[in-house]
Amino acid sequence: MIRINEFSLAGNEGKYLKECVETGWISSEGPFVRKFEERFASFVGVRYGVAVCNGTSALETALFALGVKAGDEVIMPSFTIISCAIACLRLGAKPVLVDIEPETCTMDVDQIEGRITSKTKVIMAVDIYGHPVNMDKVLDLAKKYNLKVLTDFAESQGAQYHSGKNGGHWLRCGSMGDIAATSFYANKIITAGEGGMVVTNNEKYSRRAKAYRNLCFGQEERFNHLEVGYNFRMTNMQAALGVARLEQIEKFIRIKRGMAQYYKSGLSGIKQVRFLTEKPYARSVYWVYAIQLKPGSGICAKELIERLRKRGIETRPFFKGLHSQPALIKRGLFKREKYPRTASAYKYGLYLPSGLALTKGQIGKVVKTLKSLL
Ligand SMILES: *Cc1c(COP(=O)(O)O)cnc(C)c1O
Repeated sequence: MIRINEFSLAGNEGKYLKECVETGWISSEGPFVRKFEERFASFVGVRYGVAVCNGTSALETALFALGVKAGDEVIMPSFTIISCAIACLRLGAKPVLVDIEPETCTMDVDQIEGRITSKTKVIMAVDIYGHPVNMDKVLDLAKKYNLKVLTDFAESQGAQYHSGKNGGHWLRCGSMGDIAATSFYANKIITAGEGGMVVTNNEKYSRRAKAYRNLCFGQEERFNHLEVGYNFRMTNMQAALGVARLEQIEKFIRIKRGMAQYYKSGLSGIKQVRFLTEKPYARSVYWVYAIQLKPGSGICAKELIERLRKRGIETRPFFKGLHSQPALIKRGLFKREKYPRTASAYKYGLYLPSGLALTKGQIGKVVKTLKSLL
């Protein structure tokens, strides 16, 4: 079986983990947590990093830091993981959706303005499959309507965005907007086994994020709590893994971009296959290699996924839109709302084995199998 995500632990992972055990520093008080926060924030190009236990809690922590509360609205794409909606719901806020632009599957920024109301507080820009959202437009809208911008860059660690602002610069994903959240789950570019981080240039937001991940302990009197927080702390062992992985990120990005090129040249002869586009303003990290079947090709993703599985190739379907999630509809959300591009991406999209340990030979086998099936 060629698995969807296999990686190797080839750097200092073992050494740093051993250090945790040998020094006895295993909890969130250990020195790797601070080190990971500083190094990751510096890699992204922002001042503060606040490590948490996963990406879902990072999103919630970031929304709390921005002051999101019950009744507020947060604009996000329908095409994303349910974590984005859950993070809102946990704070009593309401997710409000937009559809995607078909070339990148990131949110269609031209639909945002029409969804802004007097309750809108935040635009949540979610980078998809390694490719950033068209951020300049998001930032312009945020300025015009006095909104905050939270980016979810769980899938775009190390990716870059060319901003037309301030003379035009390549910026790392996660460094634009007011605050950003990411995940270090095992399949992410940087993993800590499980983990997440909130990054920001804003000192107040970083302070609020730190409070939220640690039960909002009192400043003056420790056991006097002014707000409700949670225990979202990251352990020293997770951070040790994170530091070791971060040391290798340039190599990881090279591998992912090389893999994408290899897949694309191999698959470009198959007329039923459509590729996602890398926009001129983006340097994608191709977190996963995603393809879509053309609607007229007589086969949908579900069927192809099953046929590939029978041939020993593990793939994954695209996100099913938030607007069609039973758990959310049951709460009275998204009634009669339609997001046709999201629905179509779900129907025709899948991603191929994309782990860091994937070999050229394995990619060759995937390409050959796809050719024979299509
Ligand atoms: C993986 C992912 C998350 C959730 O991260 P967890 O660590 O699994 O909670 C959030 N947003 C996006 C876009 C993701 O891909």
